[in-house]
Amino acid sequence: EEVKQEPKIVLVTGGTGLVGSAIHQVVNSSEKREDENWVFISSRDCNLEDLNETRALFERVKPTHVIHLAAMVGGLFHNLAHNLQFFRRNMAINDNVLAMCHEFDVKKCVSCLSTCIFPDKTTYPIDETMVHLGPPHDSNFGYSYAKRMIDTLNRGYAQEHGRRYTSVVPCNVFGPHDNYNLQAGHVLPALIHKAYVAKRDGTPLQVFGTGRPLRQFIYSLDLARLFIWVMRSYDQVDPIILSVGEEDEVSISDAVNAVVKAIGFQGEVAYDTSRADGQFKKTASNGKLRRLLPDFQFTPFETAIKESVEWFVDNYETARK
Ligand code: NDP
Repeated sequence: EEVKQEPKIVLVTGGTGLVGSAIHQVVNSSEKREDENWVFISSRDCNLEDLNETRALFERVKPTHVIHLAAMVGGLFHNLAHNLQFFRRNMAINDNVLAMCHEFDVKKCVSCLSTCIFPDKTTYPIDETMVHLGPPHDSNFGYSYAKRMIDTLNRGYAQEHGRRYTSVVPCNVFGPHDNYNLQAGHVLPALIHKAYVAKRDGTPLQVFGTGRPLRQFIYSLDLARLFIWVMRSYDQVDPIILSVGEEDEVSISDAVNAVVKAIGFQGEVAYDTSRADGQFKKTASNGKLRRLLPDFQFTPFETAIKESVEWFVDNYETARK
């Protein structure tokens, strides 16, 4: 007799953020499947820093699968000022979510690290085996150590309880629903917002730092498709880097030029070199991803920037800023 498969219930924490809203869009269009029910939650549905609230959420949703995105997230300047908070709040969120995954017998949990948590002094390209091989950059040590401990928790749950909880390591993400706040935002959304204001007011566009640091940027909708693939098909506990290739690394000034072009800004661009640059580069290898998923097509950088700028201009009134 045929055994009827129960539908999967996939809980997405941080479901209203940049990455969460991209996953929401993709599972409701190209990647829609009848046997999956997706539940997206924000901090308004549950404060994951609180264990009792987290337990009540799991009781209510009864997830079979979890994509864990919720985190206190911010750009360089926000991190520099709040390392302790980044550490404590993210440690609490991650410990609570993984403990409840185990308690409620969740089959698979995919959590999120970041390429900016890798060792500061390292050889390049960085790969998945190097997460713990030395201290992170001083600017974001709180965020970095809290993220690294997710991998420690995953290994512990595998060793003691046979769980298959894993993590992914995205490079810098950008796209619709980003945080465009000028103080707390990441470099690209902050640049898009600044360029919008400079164009509107006819003022120069001020960029922080020299423009020389190198970064890999992934479009949130590409990352969303990769997350869904990991949730459905990747079965290791070890992390996997989700990034564009080394050859697609761009400098901050390349990114500035792409934004300026997309928004149609024709004024002066001024680099404030008294501001911190952050890490010069953190080039990551996507070799593991390429071996497992050789045919994946990334959206070209300029196309993705254009779509993100259009989204910001169209949603200026309601965008997070
Ligand atoms: P966002 O800041 O856009 O979204 C954060 C999400 O987490 C929101 O849904 C927010 O809810 C939720 N959240 C924050 N605090 C809590 C809390 N205490 N309880 C419950 N929910 C909470 O983040 P991103 O989408 O950019 O990031 C998603 C993940 O990807 C994070 O783990 C981040 O570390 C990682 N990442 C991000 C990169 C990037 O460039 N953005 C790069 C690499 C990794 P609410 O909307 O209610 O505030």
